[in-house]
Amino acid sequence: MIEKRDPSPSALNFKGTRATAFCLLICALSLAWIASRDFASMKTPDVLVPAAGFKRHLLSEWFPPLAATPMDTPVYIQKGNEPGGSVLVLGGTHPNEPAGYMTAVLMLERAWVRKGRLYVIPFANIAGFGHTQPQEASPEAILFTLPDGSSRKFRYGSRDMTHTLMWPIPDIYIHKASAQRLSGGESRNLNRAYPGDPNGSPTERLAWAIMEFLRGEKIDLAFDLHEASPEYPVVDAIVAHERSMELAAATSMELKGQGIEVRLEPSPKNLRGLSHREWGDGSGVMPILMETANPSQGRLRGRTDEALALTGRDKSYLKAAGLGRLFVPYEEGGKPLEARVARHLTAIMTFLSMMEFFVDENKAIEIDGLPTYQRLVESGIGKWLNPEEPVRDVLSR
Ligand SMILES: [Zn+2]
Repeated sequence: MIEKRDPSPSALNFKGTRATAFCLLICALSLAWIASRDFASMKTPDVLVPAAGFKRHLLSEWFPPLAATPMDTPVYIQKGNEPGGSVLVLGGTHPNEPAGYMTAVLMLERAWVRKGRLYVIPFANIAGFGHTQPQEASPEAILFTLPDGSSRKFRYGSRDMTHTLMWPIPDIYIHKASAQRLSGGESRNLNRAYPGDPNGSPTERLAWAIMEFLRGEKIDLAFDLHEASPEYPVVDAIVAHERSMELAAATSMELKGQGIEVRLEPSPKNLRGLSHREWGDGSGVMPILMETANPSQGRLRGRTDEALALTGRDKSYLKAAGLGRLFVPYEEGGKPLEARVARHLTAIMTFLSMMEFFVDENKAIEIDGLPTYQRLVESGIGKWLNPEEPVRDVLSR
């Protein structure tokens, strides 16, 4: 006689396992949906509300093969009523360094050019704004409140060119013009790619387009705006090519007179691929790279969130300052973004005020409408941004 097994317990177990698996699958899909929605939202371009007088262009006008690629980025131009010199303010080489691009945005939204020409590229590595830096837990965006109560959001991206455009990365990155060898990750770094290559990687093509722009527009003075960790030696610093060194020395003395301490560094001739070296060697421009201190990208930081990006306040940095481990003064108040932007902006305006005396009287550049260091620190950045318009600044592609 065949023993008849009771089917009910195993059938019940199987049913239970299937129900658990189904629930877990739903949970996993829900989490994936939420994460992908957040990730996709970073692809939406930030809204820009330029001041009257700016004309919008795209970088591909100076290097047509860049058109319809994720590297193409807006270029804004305002010409004064009187002739003079030309200046480029370039932010967003590294989209995780907000004082760099917010200084460019503030100039775009407030500047009124009286003499000369102002060029603003707020998001140089615009593809790098579409994602955050892997494993850094950085915020996706920073928010500013305007006097009318509305708010403006700007993305906080990654220093790298988009990973999907640059995958896989090589073990070693070789800078073509010099055969200098760097770690493979630097192949995604715009500020190691100059003078670029018209047929190279996305980073090299973007670098080439910026060089073509500098040459095509005969830019006199160009700023590449950055931030660095407070424990990094080149911070609160101006790095100048030999062609811009005299102007930079006069500016740093003037800034010290205003109580703004800056470190002046010559651009090393053997460190290739960087804007302060290659812009000057490959075009007629006087290049300046500037760094402010940003704890939200530092290695000693604790919790990394929007508050840290905006205030720069972090207990670990306070402790590090007490131990003498930082290259900049650091106090209880942190390193607020408005003070970092004010430092960049005041330095730019001081450089411009020196142009006619140290370069050429016909190269004067006069810009009104921008806040002084003190006013910006007191009022915050939101006070100087324009309310959003209904039409978004979407790339025309
Ligand atoms: Zn940087």
